Amino acid sequence: MKVVVAVKRVIDYNVKIRVKSDETGVETENVKMSMNPFDEIAVEEGVQLRENGMVDELIAISMGPQQCQETIRTALAMGADRGIHVAHDEELEPLAVAKLMRAIVDAESPDMIIVGKQAIDDDSNQTGQMLAALLGWSQGTFASNLVLGEGNVAVTREIDGGLETLNLKLPAVITTDLRLNTPRYASLPNIMKAKKKPIEETTPANLGVDVKPRLTTLKVVEPSKREAGEMVENVAGLVNKLRNEAKVIS
Ligand code: AMP
Repeated sequence: MKVVVAVKRVIDYNVKIRVKSDETGVETENVKMSMNPFDEIAVEEGVQLRENGMVDELIAISMGPQQCQETIRTALAMGADRGIHVAHDEELEPLAVAKLMRAIVDAESPDMIIVGKQAIDDDSNQTGQMLAALLGWSQGTFASNLVLGEGNVAVTREIDGGLETLNLKLPAVITTDLRLNTPRYASLPNIMKAKKKPIEETTPANLGVDVKPRLTTLKVVEPSKREAGEMVENVAGLVNKLRNEAKVIS
């Protein structure tokens, strides 16, 4: 069985985001970049299936600038077998990424593709769903548990009020939620071994995909600052403020 995992290079989750002064986006110059946290979970899941003997080949894919190859290397150091990098220097919208993924799926014919539930930079939460629609495949989103069978996969999802388990026919698209697993740190020997694993480079044009943006960002601004709280003397004081200042009760 062959599995593809998607790894997006995003601003590290520990970095305090700064909005550019011209309000066209966020500052990415000299900012630490890392693998999207939900994608680390996708890689870990793929590697565990590989180690359990359920999967024979695990391919890590990334779309974006040249440095995406570092992100793919991290996936290779965690245990993926090989990588595919689709080189593109401009921003890629989720639909464009989903179309690139479809082209890779057409060429590689995997049984399952695991992506993050969302990228922490654009917070779109769209790529996996769009990919499943483009391919006409089953989808199991926000997976908190996966049990792979022969030709099927059971996906447990955290939903309001409980857990839902879906039985999907393969091939399928899975998107990972936080509780699916705890990603490993790559060991030094595995980081060294990963340097020898192959990364194939291609482009949107080679894959025959038009990635022209369809959306226009009007402006990006900082969230408004939260005002300091205020202590009230008693319940009557609170009710007075809610009624006369916040005007949320009558
Ligand atoms: P999004 O729909 O943008 O929130 O992204 C959801 C998931 O799609 C991410 O967690 C990644 O697994 C995958 N993805 C999105 N963009 C890329 C990209 N440029 N390269 C690789 N994977 C991506």
